[in-house]
Amino acid sequence: MDMIANIDRLLLELDERSLTRRRRAVDTPCAPRLEVEGRPLLAFCSNDYLGLASHPAVVAALREGAALYGAGSGASHLISGHGRAHTQLEDRLAEFESPHLDNARAITFSTGYMANLAILTALGADAGAEIFSEQLNHASLIDGARLARAQVKVYPHAGVAELAALLAASTAPTKIVVTDSVFSMDGDLAPLPALLALCERHNAWLVVDDAHGFGTLGANGRGALEHFDLRSPNLVYMGTLGKAAGVAGAFVAAHASVIELMIQRARPYIYTTAAPPALAHALLTSLDIISGAEGAARRAHLASLVGRFRAGLRLERWQHPPSSTAIQPIIIGANDEALRAGAGLYGQGLWVPAIRPPTVPADTARLRVTLSAAHTHEDVAQLAAALNQLERT
Ligand SMILES: *Cc1c(COP(=O)(O)O)cnc(C)c1O
Repeated sequence: MDMIANIDRLLLELDERSLTRRRRAVDTPCAPRLEVEGRPLLAFCSNDYLGLASHPAVVAALREGAALYGAGSGASHLISGHGRAHTQLEDRLAEFESPHLDNARAITFSTGYMANLAILTALGADAGAEIFSEQLNHASLIDGARLARAQVKVYPHAGVAELAALLAASTAPTKIVVTDSVFSMDGDLAPLPALLALCERHNAWLVVDDAHGFGTLGANGRGALEHFDLRSPNLVYMGTLGKAAGVAGAFVAAHASVIELMIQRARPYIYTTAAPPALAHALLTSLDIISGAEGAARRAHLASLVGRFRAGLRLERWQHPPSSTAIQPIIIGANDEALRAGAGLYGQGLWVPAIRPPTVPADTARLRVTLSAAHTHEDVAQLAAALNQLERT
């Protein structure tokens, strides 16, 4: 079988470059302390930034949602899969983000990946549309731009001046600037106020992928737009619901006309089965927590953990670039050294993923530490000490 032999050769090549990825099956709920094949581990891997994935109230709401609405939606949103819980969640999300948008409306998706495909294909399908994409954008935005078949111009990381020049030179009738708010492998923030000012000057959309900011940024957890105190009709906001919100899915919030366009035109919305309404029901409880006093307390604890972790690091060769968010990369460089470091931690019962190209640029393989409000100060002190020691061996 030549075809299988070809695939096996490709897989062997990946292995030789230390690029093979392996999965580990977790036996317990998502939490800092979990079990893999009977082995207890302290994990710094998940994007469950507020510790809501196994929060008793969210789990109870999911159970209640299943009792109310069953297991599955049975159809796409435009056929019969759009449930009461979906509309309740959309309304709550639109209201939550309304301080930052004009005439806000929201629409929910099964995943953030699909939401990004939907935004860029719905807005970018116009003839002559141009998409201006930040260099470190998430893969789903890159794929969305490709699927839209629009012209794509990539601007450098945080390159406001470069973007300004590109926008000034563009004669496209539809201009779309798209960026992560919190960069998923670096933890730094995009300069959103400067980007928005440019977009308003040049009549461009600013699509903000707030996968890592929704729930964690802003006094009320509204995310990056609240953090930077932004409001504009040019904004199209995407937040995910499987990270800080602890369940699954995503939403887009924008001017009602943008949302209506997505319902009418976005194929990643139209041609897929709606997420189970029970998930939307559970997310109403996540939103209660995020927007209430408990959410504020969890964000404050998370911020103190970030400070504790950074203060505990004494690294000489490995880099830990500035990041005030829950994403704290330790940049090592070579793929094999990053893998060895990850394995060294794992041997001590600490689970931190090693991230290699193509997820990050070549020669910037790293340990991607993510902190959660479910961690303790002792947890992060233990990790910092283990990293300090490991770097010297
Ligand atoms: C996780 C992530 C997504 C995709 O969201 P899912 O709900 O996991 O599909 C999109 N953008 C960024 C920046 C992400 O980190």
